[in-house]
Amino acid sequence: MPTLDNIAATKAILAKYNFHFQKKFGQNFLIDRSVLSGIVEAGEVGPEDFVVEIGPGIGTMTQYLAESAGQVLAVEIDDKLIPVLQETLGSYDNASVLHQDVLTVDFLEIAKEKNGGKPLKFVANLPYYITTPIVMQLLQNEIPFSSITVMVQKEVAERMQAQPGSKDYGALSVAVQYYTDPELNFIVGKGSFIPQPKVESAVITLKPKKTPLNPAVKPEHMFTVVRAVFNQRRKTLLNALANGGVLGGNKEAISEALLAAGFEPSLRGEGLDLEGFAKLTEALYH
Ligand code: SAM
Repeated sequence: MPTLDNIAATKAILAKYNFHFQKKFGQNFLIDRSVLSGIVEAGEVGPEDFVVEIGPGIGTMTQYLAESAGQVLAVEIDDKLIPVLQETLGSYDNASVLHQDVLTVDFLEIAKEKNGGKPLKFVANLPYYITTPIVMQLLQNEIPFSSITVMVQKEVAERMQAQPGSKDYGALSVAVQYYTDPELNFIVGKGSFIPQPKVESAVITLKPKKTPLNPAVKPEHMFTVVRAVFNQRRKTLLNALANGGVLGGNKEAISEALLAAGFEPSLRGEGLDLEGFAKLTEALYH
């Protein structure tokens, strides 16, 4: 039975271990039962799943996950939380802790070693200071996943789902929508955490796209182009691509490729949709 899903139990365990929140680790712990069960439901966690939780904190959500999943592996960076997790997860023999910086974890190896190469399921209340690097790590390293259900800042969830023409549309939108179909589950207020974050949050699920966008386009080429365009979104396509080092920054070669594919070099790239970026990448790297 979960034991930590309320403010009194959370405060008691924090006091027992004399734990102090570390801002640098983005520590905002959940104290709201309906949010905790909502996340497990959104992740469709079941007995067949090997779930990876990024940043378990004191193990509040880990307990919920362990109640439903086959296996849970919780990756935590903070030394001070390891003894706490030993206690709070002690009665769950399907939950284990990996004491490591998530950005250095080889999830391909974990899928192979611990789950017979089958896809992992990621569920997390993410540390907000590294949301984008974590999500990009999972998406771009070809890690097999059945879904990624994460709590992020509300604004970040909006950026993940943004469409061309909106001010929120950027490199994160293109990356997330290139690899997955994002679906917003629900919004979470500041009062569901201790300490309270400064911003509202949202739970979003990313499911892998069934069919790749354009198999002729290599993701690393596409994202060189995407980064170049959004790093200088007010510049023309020609200048942004050249400054971003595309085709070695050779303006003539870029201009030629753009014109041959029907792109006006003086256009801005920020309004391109996924297909547009794929077509542009194909034109530049054929
Ligand atoms: N899952 C807990 C909850 O919902 O109550 C805690 C979530 S808290 C927002 C983020 C957690 O991620 C913290 O436990 C923090 O120490 C951990 N964390 C921060 N940076 C990390 C990193 N680079 N690798 C692994 N864990 C990290």
